[in-house]
Amino acid sequence: MQNVLKTLVSKRFIILTVSGVALFLAISLFNISLWYVLLAGVTLGLIFGKVFCRWICPMGLIMELLLSISPDGKFRQMYQYHKLGCPIAWISGFLNRFSLFKIELNRESCKNCGICDEKCYIVAMEPAKFSLYKPKGIRPGDSYACSKCLECVAVCPNDSLTYKM
Ligand code: SF4
Ligand code: SF4
Repeated sequence: MQNVLKTLVSKRFIILTVSGVALFLAISLFNISLWYVLLAGVTLGLIFGKVFCRWICPMGLIMELLLSISPDGKFRQMYQYHKLGCPIAWISGFLNRFSLFKIELNRESCKNCGICDEKCYIVAMEPAKFSLYKPKGIRPGDSYACSKCLECVAVCPNDSLTYKM
C-alpha cells in the first residue's frame, strides 16, 4: 500500500493534469453545475481531506503551471499556504481535522531525521509552530492549509508516516 501511495505521489502532477483537464471539459461540454463539483469536493474532503486542490482542480493545475515558472520558490510556498477564495478549499480544508483518512506518525520507527518537515510547505512557512514528527509541533496534516500533497509520507525513509483510515 505504501508503495502504491509513493507511486501516486511521484505521478501527482500527471494525475492533476489529466483529472483537471477532464473536469474542465466535463463542465464545459456537458454543462455540469458547479454545485455538483462542490458536492464532489466536499464528499472527497470528508473521506480524504483537502485532496481536491492538488489532485483534481483545473484552477489548481493552472496555478501550479504558473508558479512552476516563477523563480521564487518562496512565492509558491506562500500560495500553497494561504490558498483562499474557493469554497471547496474552505470546506475541505476545514474537514482535514475530521476526514476518514489521516496522516499518522509511528513514533516507534521514526528516526527524527526531519526529512518530512523539509518537504512540507506548511512547516516551511511556520517552522516554530508545525512539525510532522516533533512531539511539541502541531501536526500540519490536520491544518486547513494541508492540501494532501503527501510528499511527507512519500519521502519518509522508514515509512513512519502513513496516510490511512
Ligand atoms: S522523515 Fe520519517 S523518520 Fe524522518 S522525522 Fe519524518 S517521520 Fe521521522
Ligand atoms: S501532505 Fe504532508 S507535506 Fe503535504 S502539506 Fe500536508 S503535511 Fe505538508
